[in-house]
Amino acid sequence: MTTAPNAAPAPAPTAVPVIAIQGLHKAYGTLEVLKGVDVKAMPGQVISLIGSSGSGKSTLLRCCNLLEDSQQGEILFEGEAVRWRGAGLERHPADRAQVARIRTNLSMVFQNFNLWSHMTVLQNVMEAPVTVLKQDRATVEARARALLAKVGIGDKADVYPAQMSGGQQQRAAIARALCMEPRALLFDEPTSALDPELEQEVVRVIKALADEGRTMLIVTHDMRLAADVSDHVIFLHQGLIEEEGPPGTLFGAPKSQRLQQFLSASQ
Ligand code: ADP
Ligand code: MG
Repeated sequence: MTTAPNAAPAPAPTAVPVIAIQGLHKAYGTLEVLKGVDVKAMPGQVISLIGSSGSGKSTLLRCCNLLEDSQQGEILFEGEAVRWRGAGLERHPADRAQVARIRTNLSMVFQNFNLWSHMTVLQNVMEAPVTVLKQDRATVEARARALLAKVGIGDKADVYPAQMSGGQQQRAAIARALCMEPRALLFDEPTSALDPELEQEVVRVIKALADEGRTMLIVTHDMRLAADVSDHVIFLHQGLIEEEGPPGTLFGAPKSQRLQQFLSASQ
């Protein structure tokens, strides 16, 4: 981590954000969860989202992945505006196809791994590239095995999720997300369900992905993870960005009182 000015390499002027969210509003019925949020993830950038429970972090991530409709605001994927003609099942078919295509480019990793329990680890990793992307099975299998080795569970290809530790299951879920060859990875509390010693093996994998220049949005309660891997940290409070900046500044010299309180409560 560094606080030196100009330490981060400036993105090329032509770079287009992988995800850009502008003025996003999201409500569930009368409950306003996001009240005008802007987020921009440049290629290779790692952004952490922190904030109290209920502040809207998961909702924001789900909006990025187009798992949620929003009421107002714009979402752009690599410069392409997401269209919202109609809602839910009434949505315009072309718009549904656009959402499906964009979603395959934004792989999500969840707190509780969400592996399919009736499939082996290898089958879990291969499933979406083969059935959704219609890729050649042998090609996908070679990629899946290489990814399992990369996350340190190359010997677990043929076991079922229940036969593995939580840390191993989460690494399998990360391999599954990577096997889609997404443009960005979205993590929702990837270490929250893990004991501290298992947490570290997942943190190491996430750090390695950051080092290889992956674009990532990480919702986390782990301030050390946020400080170690992020280029940019966003503190959400009641559906608004209360403060944001590089981790050295945000954690080292928080300006807002709410962030100061949140950080002292998170220690
Ligand atoms: P966080 O991830 O920061 O804990 P969430 O984004 O999960 O917060 O939730 C923000 C608020 O939205 C909370 O008040 C939560 O109860 C509410 N909420 C989340 N999902 C739904 C839903 N599907 N329907 C209704 N309310 C929801
Ligand atoms: Mg959440």
